[in-house]
Amino acid sequence: MTYVFPPAEIPSVAVAGSDARFPVHRIYCVGRNYAAHAREMGKDPDRDPPFFFMKPADAVVPDGAEVPYPPQTENLHHEIELVIAIGKGGRDIAEADVPDHIFGYAVGNDLTRRDLQLAARDKGRPWDTGKGFDHSAPISAIRPAADIGHPETGRIWLAVNDAVRQDGDLAELIWDVREIVSILSGLYTLRPGDLIFSGTPAGVGPLARGDVITGGVDGVGTLTTRIV
Ligand code: MN
Repeated sequence: MTYVFPPAEIPSVAVAGSDARFPVHRIYCVGRNYAAHAREMGKDPDRDPPFFFMKPADAVVPDGAEVPYPPQTENLHHEIELVIAIGKGGRDIAEADVPDHIFGYAVGNDLTRRDLQLAARDKGRPWDTGKGFDHSAPISAIRPAADIGHPETGRIWLAVNDAVRQDGDLAELIWDVREIVSILSGLYTLRPGDLIFSGTPAGVGPLARGDVITGGVDGVGTLTTRIV
């Protein structure tokens, strides 16, 4: 088979303790999955079914990299999140079977053009331009579940220029990892290489050129990004 031009390279994420990389298939994201963050976004937290949006697979940015301040926004926000890395695909996955489908976990930053997202939200339009832009998914190396297990509690935090802005705990997730993967697998056939950003705790806020963002999830890792 030939292509009319060379295909784009497969986006991938580093794996801690391995030279082999995790090839990214899709990036799914959960909206408003911590009560305090739902409230700061002007919404009541609830147990309505979780909702999802996507970023392009090639939005991934490795730990330690620089991210150019994106165009068409004056309000770029950080959102620190636990990321679930799928290693075995499936559909209609039962909650009890979810751990078998998880390759590992990473720390991600769901970078958001908040002004575009809120304008779209208020007009009932898709969130794509606010969420799914180039370089919008900084992500740490993936820690295999074979090494760290399946974290259900642990501090999740983010600092900008060493000032802590987000400080929560995985125990505060409205929908936990098993529920997220099970429900998502009823909407899409999950594939190896899928990443799922699981939602952010309260404290989201604006970023400026020159900011150094550090964040982490206890037991998973840390992520550092500089906005340029
Ligand atoms: Mn998010």
